[in-house]
Amino acid sequence: MSKIELKKINKYFDNHHILKDLDLVIEEGDFMTLLGPSGCGKTTTLRVITGLENPERGTISIGGKEVVNGENYFYAPPSKRGLNLVFQSYALWPHMTVYENVAFGLNINKVPKAEIKTSVEQALEKMQIQKYRDRYPSELSGGQQQRVAIARAIVTKPKILLLDEPLSNLDAKLRLEMRAELKRLHRDLKTTIIYVTHDQVEALTLSTKIAIFFEGNLVQLDSPKGIYRQPADIRVADFIGNPTINFVDADSTYENGRLITESPLGKLVLDSRAAGAAASGKVTLAIYPEDIQVVQEPVEGGIPCHVYSTLPAGSETIIQLSAGSDLGIMAKVMGDLELPIGKLVYIRFPLEKVNVYDKATGKLIA
Ligand code: ATP
Repeated sequence: MSKIELKKINKYFDNHHILKDLDLVIEEGDFMTLLGPSGCGKTTTLRVITGLENPERGTISIGGKEVVNGENYFYAPPSKRGLNLVFQSYALWPHMTVYENVAFGLNINKVPKAEIKTSVEQALEKMQIQKYRDRYPSELSGGQQQRVAIARAIVTKPKILLLDEPLSNLDAKLRLEMRAELKRLHRDLKTTIIYVTHDQVEALTLSTKIAIFFEGNLVQLDSPKGIYRQPADIRVADFIGNPTINFVDADSTYENGRLITESPLGKLVLDSRAAGAAASGKVTLAIYPEDIQVVQEPVEGGIPCHVYSTLPAGSETIIQLSAGSDLGIMAKVMGDLELPIGKLVYIRFPLEKVNVYDKATGKLIA
């Protein structure tokens, strides 16, 4: 009973069209992340679901019950939607201690005192904030307040949980631990979670599904693997890569299931490509940094490049290379590999992993 369905949602702020005919279904038990660059409409989507903003057009239903019908000016109040929301800005009660803040929802629901104590203590422990239990929000750092806000939301074991950048103020180590907690929480409570972030690593590691937004449009809804390996649009590919995916402009011709491309990387023959790639002409090849092998000796099929710089980061090294006169290529290799600047090396990559985009439309075609 926690499926959420948005149909043709349109939202304007002053004359700006922020959400444009948004259709989105969040199935019961999904961990759905709304991902996209700053200002693309993620938070607005969350706010129209909760009732903090009203869309001008479109409908929203939660658990099969209509809570918004823009055409009929019907907007159920937030308190009647059965949602639990954690904002980036925490919104803790300033006059209550950490313990009292976390216990608040259970007190309202008249849960027996002993049960409240156990549940609150468990939530404090999960969020690693037991030692701040008697402090007031003003005596906590931003990251500590953020964890109190999550504890307060999870303690009631909600069916639906909405989280807006809930880990944005945590340091790297704590963020990793809290991600693991959220993932466990999702699995244990089978809560439907809608999560807003602009951090693609967070989205890829936590979600069962990712919805990617650009300028108020949903451009792709897919599994994390689908989003990562098959971005439907070159903007998605550009956004998701970490480090950025290499884009190489090429001329292409299509022959019997093979796409032949000519670019500064030379001639590439991409086998088993769908006829949709028949669009002979200008394309953009997308080659993932981690698919590129850097070899120091001439090798069959190896493309000569010069080392521009190496950026070792302990367990992996980013190598920036130049191919031809003006093509920069980024490779990510395992381990610590320090190569002298200017050194001639050779790169190879599995051709079946190269995605091809139509240069004019930016759409994935092969
Ligand atoms: P971020 O990652 O920076 O939080 P977002 O994707 O969540 O971004 P939204 O907060 O949904 O983006 O904002 C979408 C657009 O709507 C932005 O251009 C923003 O300036 C505008 N906007 C949001 N709230 C209001 C408001 N109350 N009044 C006017 N414009 C608004």
